[in-house]
Amino acid sequence: MHDTVQTKPKPLEKGEHQAPISNSRRQKRSRRGAGLKRTVILHSLELNTGKLKDISQLISAYANQKDAFLVTYAHIKFLDALLSNRLRDSLVASGFKSPFGLKARAWKLALNDALQAIDVYWQAIIYVCKKYIFRKFSDEAERHYAFWTLKDYKRIQSLMSGQIPDGEPLKSKLDLSARQKIAKYLHRRLRKEVGSRPRVCLRRSICLDARMYRVFDEKGTQYISITKLFERGRVVIPLKGRHTISGNIRIVLNRITQTIEVHTTSDVLRKSLRTNSPDIGVDLGVSELFTDSEGIKWCSEYWDELKSYAEKVNATGKQRNKLHALEKSLRRRNPNKARRIRKFNLGKDKMMAKKSQFHSRIKTDVNTAINRFLDVRMPHRIAIEDLRGYSPEPGKGWFSRLLSFWTLGIINQRFTFKSQAGGSSLESVNAAYSSQTCPACGYLDPLNRKRDRFQCLNCGTVLDADTAASRNLKARLDDPDIQLWTSTKRVREILVQRFEKRRLEGLVVETQADTAGLTVSGKTPGTIMTEVRREWSTGERNFGVWV
Ligand SMILES: [Zn+2]
Repeated sequence: MHDTVQTKPKPLEKGEHQAPISNSRRQKRSRRGAGLKRTVILHSLELNTGKLKDISQLISAYANQKDAFLVTYAHIKFLDALLSNRLRDSLVASGFKSPFGLKARAWKLALNDALQAIDVYWQAIIYVCKKYIFRKFSDEAERHYAFWTLKDYKRIQSLMSGQIPDGEPLKSKLDLSARQKIAKYLHRRLRKEVGSRPRVCLRRSICLDARMYRVFDEKGTQYISITKLFERGRVVIPLKGRHTISGNIRIVLNRITQTIEVHTTSDVLRKSLRTNSPDIGVDLGVSELFTDSEGIKWCSEYWDELKSYAEKVNATGKQRNKLHALEKSLRRRNPNKARRIRKFNLGKDKMMAKKSQFHSRIKTDVNTAINRFLDVRMPHRIAIEDLRGYSPEPGKGWFSRLLSFWTLGIINQRFTFKSQAGGSSLESVNAAYSSQTCPACGYLDPLNRKRDRFQCLNCGTVLDADTAASRNLKARLDDPDIQLWTSTKRVREILVQRFEKRRLEGLVVETQADTAGLTVSGKTPGTIMTEVRREWSTGERNFGVWV
């Protein structure tokens, strides 16, 4: 599995491994709906020591340069220049020479790479702020002004320097003091969200443009030759498999297997949207990957195996923690033994290799399940809970850790890509109370759900819990009141009001007989619990910035 040659186009998650987007394209790209790209990975044969040294040298010089750029340009005063060529041009004009020995071509790519990371970092902050705006301001004009301010880096910059951004199309509705109030709030919110700045942490990849490498074929093998950093000549690396390599590429070094990966992108043709197909809701689950609103559970053949593997990893992790503690306590008393523990029991290579194997299996599995789902259902719109703000609840055990950001990120990214390429549109919806509300009568009660069984305490509808949730998600697609950023509290109010209204109009039928089997001590059906579990859609900003 691990050493299969990926000659088949295989897209990747956004992040470190993504082949670079050229500067001009970055300028042109709109925030949403950027051109659909597929990353193809080609693996190399094992490198010898000399080649490994040359590549490592290149990569570490590049990483150091990129990191230096990140440190300099993450500052707010450069924010408005992020999406232009201004910084690059001024460096060129001042005769900039890379202190790490990179040629002009290479440091420009490192700069581009760094600016992209800073852009992603700011987009993440802005995303969280938008959520708060929805909660804080209910007036349409106020919201409009706040969103308008966050839309442009120049405006954010002036906001952060204490000014009140001007020129908004709807400003006639807001006087200066109203705008001042919003600007002050946004300033405070942004300052709160600006956490640690992005830095280079992995130091294992480099971007190359078309003039920094050459691809050729010899005796049926594809080779890539890359210009060396300090001496003349090129490093020639044989590749497994074959694919067109062109334009900007990324080289990723795997120090454990002593190989490189060549990441190259190609455009993907988008199928036209299937407007005549049905909409489907999707609820991400625990015992399977996801459940759709038709009641089908989509998982992979290996899902159980993956779960048992995750359990194993968890157990090993616990053992390692114990050993770490032991090693720490022995460091003074018995340094030799501590060293042996570090070397033989706490080494990272094997663990990392297993982990990456596990990760690639999850990726394949997620892919398979999503492909099958799209083939069978052929949906027009897919409603999915908004995963960007999700953080796993602490203490929920091993599975919440397995479904950590990483897996959720993969699922979300695969869904986005596959649905776009296959003619469906993926839409994030507000998931608050989606697992506690009856899809039939709209009655909301945490007690409607008992583990994987949903039984409405009002109308008696019995459903699989995940199916019920995915039906609610589907309904949110066209919900006029519950939007993505509507606060959890407001969602609850809306749901309660709706139910009451329907009950007064006599549209809700209560069938107490069906709930007879359900006894809940001290709680009567018809009362809505105040203590409500926080749902998926709430939580803090936790999606990472890959650098
Ligand atoms: Zn019901």
